[in-house]
Amino acid sequence: MATCCDDNEHDPAAKSVAEALEIILAAASPPSHSEVRALDDASDRVLAEDLRTEQPIPAWPNSAMDGYGLRCSDGPGDRRCVGAAFAGHPFTGELGPGECIRIMTGAPVPADVDCVVPQEQCERQDDRVEFRSALRPGANIRQAGDDLPAGAVALARGTLLRPAALGVAASLGRTELRVYPALRVAFFSTGDELQGLGAPLAAGQIYDSNRHMLRALLGRLGCQPLDLGRVADEPAAIRQALTEAAAMADVILSTGGVSVGEADYISALLQELGQVSFWKMNMKPGRPLAFGTIGSAHFFGLPGNPVSTVVTFYEFVRPFLLKRMGKTEPWTVPSLRLPCATTLKKKPGRTDFQRGRLVATAEGWQVAPVGAQSSHILSGLAQAQCLMVLPAEAGDIPAGSLVEVQLLEGLV
Ligand code: AMP
Ligand code: MG
Repeated sequence: MATCCDDNEHDPAAKSVAEALEIILAAASPPSHSEVRALDDASDRVLAEDLRTEQPIPAWPNSAMDGYGLRCSDGPGDRRCVGAAFAGHPFTGELGPGECIRIMTGAPVPADVDCVVPQEQCERQDDRVEFRSALRPGANIRQAGDDLPAGAVALARGTLLRPAALGVAASLGRTELRVYPALRVAFFSTGDELQGLGAPLAAGQIYDSNRHMLRALLGRLGCQPLDLGRVADEPAAIRQALTEAAAMADVILSTGGVSVGEADYISALLQELGQVSFWKMNMKPGRPLAFGTIGSAHFFGLPGNPVSTVVTFYEFVRPFLLKRMGKTEPWTVPSLRLPCATTLKKKPGRTDFQRGRLVATAEGWQVAPVGAQSSHILSGLAQAQCLMVLPAEAGDIPAGSLVEVQLLEGLV
């Protein structure tokens, strides 16, 4: 008979992904203070102020094309070219009747000009210019305030400052931005079998991959990673790591030792040191998860299997960190629905996060599994572009069915 720990059986005591996420997000309080940083040092921070435009953007009408600028009310027909406007070098003269100017993209459009004809539609002979297209008022002119009017919120408080957002802040001329502090996230891996990189492996040892993945994941979120190394499966060592971490960090992550094996001490220690709940999660990969507080720090005990570590990070830790960093919603990975290119093998009972790749077909994008789907097989995850989120109750999913897809590409 199957037991409660059978990989494929539904455990009624286990939390669903949605229930766990709700509890975790409810515990993520936004930051209580902010600091001022140079714009170039504010990447991946969260904005702690509304950035308003002082002037319209763009501030003045400018040409969208390289061509000739003219006044439509002069009527159809050719014009005499009397000057030029370049980006950074406005035309300062006046436009008489029947006259035009050479004008380049980004150059200010003089008050006398209400139409720019792209140079591909112009014929120039000495100072005479003929036009092969109709002259329309407003054509190829970017009006002042096209992008944003004066006094508008260009970037709202709670915006994660990715490159384009920094570009908007820079376009306002801001040298400094008020942002929330980077979260200090301490992390360590547990396991007597773990060996550090560069050292030979003794019998039964494996290299510690989780810690290096966590460092990279945290770095992409703009967190300050505090690497506490590998910790043996010994209560005293884990107690020391947790105490040290709680004193220096806002958030603590550990991997491994969180289930009910004989060398799994995390549970007992956390009950001694803090307020922590242990959940069996109704998901695959990533069955056990611990969440709570130690002192003023929040704690996540992630499962040790490397794929489980990353999937639980994306599903629970990342949304928690984003909210805690001060970012406004959404905190979860965006998802879409795509047809699956092949049948997806699954047993009913748990939400399955299978690793997938996007496939371009004549009918559009589809999604296909990549690599073996066991939670210790990291190579498939390294090739994956997305997670296919298969509902708990579902069994095998026939090819062509629409499945939920969470894109991992380009995630911060
Ligand atoms: P645990 O959660 O401690 O029971 O570990 C589950 C599985 O994940 C075991 O096969 C461990 O050897 C493996 N594992 C735990 N921590 C790591 C790590 N940091 N890097 C690679 N594999 C790990
Ligand atoms: Mg272990």
